[in-house]
Amino acid sequence: MDLGIAGRKAIVGGASAGLGRACAMSLAREGVDVVIVSRTPENIEKAAEEIAAATGANVTPIAADITSDEGRAAALAACPEPDILINNAGGPPSGNFRDWDREIWFSALNNNMLASVFMIKDTVDGMIERGFGRVVNITSSAVKAPIGILGLSNAARAGLTGFVAGTSREVAKHNVTINNVLPGDFETERHIDNTRAMAKLKDKDFEEMRQIRQGLVAAGRFGDPSEFGELCAYLCSNQAGFITGQNMLIDGGKYPGTF
Ligand code: NAP
Repeated sequence: MDLGIAGRKAIVGGASAGLGRACAMSLAREGVDVVIVSRTPENIEKAAEEIAAATGANVTPIAADITSDEGRAAALAACPEPDILINNAGGPPSGNFRDWDREIWFSALNNNMLASVFMIKDTVDGMIERGFGRVVNITSSAVKAPIGILGLSNAARAGLTGFVAGTSREVAKHNVTINNVLPGDFETERHIDNTRAMAKLKDKDFEEMRQIRQGLVAAGRFGDPSEFGELCAYLCSNQAGFITGQNMLIDGGKYPGTF
């Protein structure tokens, strides 16, 4: 299917690795000009070279922290009128809520809720004026099925989800959509680190823990980031203009509910 977005412009956060990189790759393959952002200069430059070589698209790397005002300004300076915005940054640490003080809470709320809210604020009116906009926020399956040790993530992402539920309906009539995509288990660097931490906690070796985690997924395997990227690109397509305010779980059937 031709997604009808060749020549559109996108900003993709957290894009040197994992799910963000996969989204950038899928959009670039559709002929979208992508500005990709992450903090470590050599990694984001390498990702830009690889995505450009694989797709022939215009890929601009920006080394910046997308959760800071300066980082967002740098991304917007490179792409002042984005048609497509993929909000993504690293997730907060796991732990026990008894150990989290105000500073830790504010950091999680900033990184996993407010950074996306501010990017939407800075870009959505331009999308409305131009009559086309697609925003995808990478959140987490924890929004639907919270995980005890991920209280910071559960809470911050639930806040973003509430904001999107209201705002998406406000902008929908201008052909601007805002959706959240909720990843289950995708074996990215973050996921591998989490498996390692869980193995340590449960006194198991890495491979044993990996098998246990895989066994919880109905599909019997972890997701490939490219599968996530392709869903993201579809939600940014011309064809997806009637899908908005949704929370789309992509988890290989791990969540056991009917809805
Ligand atoms: P990942 O493999 O660790 O990749 C994270 C990417 O984001 C890297 O490019 C990293 O590069 C960049 N990044 C991190 N913090 C940033 C910041 N403040 N500003 C700009 N770039 C930043 O992670 P992932 O697995 O793709 O996860 C992406 C998001 O999905 C996270 O929020 C994660 O919690 C969530 N999630 C993932 C899974 C999963 O199974 N993988 C499941 C549920 C939720 P730098 O460090 O160089 O900046």
